[in-house]
Amino acid sequence: METLSDAGSNSSTVKLIVTDIDNTVFDWVTYYVHSFTALLRKVETITGIPYERLASDAREVFTRHGSIEYPFLIQELASVDQHYGDDIDRMLAEAVDPGRKTFLKTAESWLVPYRGVRETLEEMRRRLPEVPIVALTDAPRYVAMWKLNKLGLLPHFSAVYGLADPRIPTCERNGRVKVDPEILLKHLQQSNFGFKGRIRILPDEYEKPGTRGLKTVLMDYNLDEDPAHRGSVLWVGDNLRKDVGLGQRLGVRTAWARYGVLSDESLYRSLHEFSPVANVHKNASFAAGSPDAPQPTHTLGEFAELLNFLS
Ligand SMILES: [Mg+2]
Repeated sequence: METLSDAGSNSSTVKLIVTDIDNTVFDWVTYYVHSFTALLRKVETITGIPYERLASDAREVFTRHGSIEYPFLIQELASVDQHYGDDIDRMLAEAVDPGRKTFLKTAESWLVPYRGVRETLEEMRRRLPEVPIVALTDAPRYVAMWKLNKLGLLPHFSAVYGLADPRIPTCERNGRVKVDPEILLKHLQQSNFGFKGRIRILPDEYEKPGTRGLKTVLMDYNLDEDPAHRGSVLWVGDNLRKDVGLGQRLGVRTAWARYGVLSDESLYRSLHEFSPVANVHKNASFAAGSPDAPQPTHTLGEFAELLNFLS
């Protein structure tokens, strides 16, 4: 079994825990493929536009907005825009609202933490109340907090670091905002979900596997200057190349969430139908395979095993 001294640092005390969110604290691929597929099927039923066309339009929207979790997707789909023309109210009422509700309803079944995550975070808080637990993600900050809130995990975090919030869609022809006013208000009002911790929005170019996101976290907690301090940082993520690799480059201790590696081929195929190709690899991690894959300090069979590495 690994010991804390394996981290290659003099420090054996954990001073900061930083964790990825998607496929690390919950199964993102299963949640998103089920919820998003249900949304597209609903829009297909309402508009008669074939699923394949909607999926291909979705890929274009995700590429344009730089996120596969763009929340105002339906109103941005080219085929839906064409179908409703300038009748934005009808589009919002007839397609966007039911599609959105279908997504949320489906998400209720699939947006759940991995086994033991909630209890482990509670235990960490109890054992090490002075050690901050930080979420660092490539998802837009708002989307990340929305998910952590739904997962019931948000209050356990000291800080959330994510990318820029989603842009509000407007009609190219008349400049009208393409979001129901009530939803827009809800979106803006809930922007922090009552979170008391630190919120930081990172520039898009800080996306992993670049080191600048994690480096910003280290700087914020004054653990950046002295390399010896970096061994007291525990960085948890499911992606060997992105998460473990970048942790190694910064000299922090890495815990690989091996359980987050995608195992269901059919989910992978479904994800491919609507995801930009680059995003498939961004959002789903695959088993190591190659001998030059980064070697994590610790490997986790489940999230709760993190407790073994805290003194
Ligand atoms: Mg991940």
